[in-house]
Amino acid sequence: MKVICLHHKDIQLEPTMIKFHNSRFGNSQYVCARCSRIREIGSGRIKVLKGTYGFINNGTKDIFFHFKYLNNSFQPFINAEVLFEVAFLEDGIEAINIREFKSGKKKIFKGLLKKDFSNNFSNNAIVNLEN
Ligand SMILES: [Zn+2]
Repeated sequence: MKVICLHHKDIQLEPTMIKFHNSRFGNSQYVCARCSRIREIGSGRIKVLKGTYGFINNGTKDIFFHFKYLNNSFQPFINAEVLFEVAFLEDGIEAINIREFKSGKKKIFKGLLKKDFSNNFSNNAIVNLEN
């Protein structure tokens, strides 16, 4: 899968990020060689839907998501195969930038960052090292 860093629009660059790690949550982590930002991307199936939220099972964990982080006009349904990005929050993780994953198609994960969590993640990582 090709994952794009979204932080170089000002110089019209879309650098491909490098996969470097499988996270303990069962997702893949990618790093940008230009800015060192990290994105964690996962795939799985929608397992639970309730009102305005649900859970995606990625084979390791059930990951919470809110409908406001569905990409474009994707209508979620049980067993839908999805790609998503992981947002790191104070009290856990959440799936954002969720899109339907059509197997057979070349996967490029660009994502509209409705909220920029990637800076957050980098900052958290630095704080943890200092502790
Ligand atoms: Zn970058």
